[in-house]
Amino acid sequence: MVIKKAEFITSVASSDKFYQTDKPIIVAAGKSNVGKSTFINSIAGNKKLARTSDTPGRTRLINYFDFGDFVLADLPGYGYAKVSAAEKIKWAKLLEDFFKVVKIRYVFSLIDIRHEPTEDDLDMVSFLYANAIPFSLVATKADKLGKSKIKPQVNKLAGLLKVAPKNILAVSSLNGYGREEVLSKIGEIISTKID
Ligand code: GDP
Repeated sequence: MVIKKAEFITSVASSDKFYQTDKPIIVAAGKSNVGKSTFINSIAGNKKLARTSDTPGRTRLINYFDFGDFVLADLPGYGYAKVSAAEKIKWAKLLEDFFKVVKIRYVFSLIDIRHEPTEDDLDMVSFLYANAIPFSLVATKADKLGKSKIKPQVNKLAGLLKVAPKNILAVSSLNGYGREEVLSKIGEIISTKID
């Protein structure tokens, strides 16, 4: 799978404006600061495509990117403690509507490889299972572990998340670890029409 194009399309803040496309939609989800923007930029081969920040939780919109053969929908990061309860409810509603209304081909649900999954991470996986949405977990920041520790940690996370280890792709956007695997997964996803 070669990424031929990666362009920002639009940002959406409310349910009546979800972007419509005939291209398969691949979703990136995960908690704030998990490395989602950096991951998207690494897939795109463009460090400036998705905004990255050391201040988590600022991306409150659904951002759409045109990758040529597919559209990537970047969901707002969840689990940021410093937002108000009202704002959290607004996000939850936006995401619930998104999954209800938009035809989604696949979800990459990002988790930090170093940490045990949070309640929000577990909720996301349960939600994807319950709604029969195909997904893989992407375990980010693999460079923070020694190479020999990656596989055992993936196996441990698989146990905690109740998924098969092959459904967790370990990546590092810093050194490119796992990028090829993600690209070949994307190739597989967009060539398999499930409808
Ligand atoms: P987002 O909030 O999920 O979009 O997270 P960002 O992409 O903005 O990344 C949050 C922080 O994690 C930033 O300081 C990044 O530089 C750092 N980061 C992201 N990906 C990696 C990675 O693969 N390895 C390491 N070591 N740091 C990363």
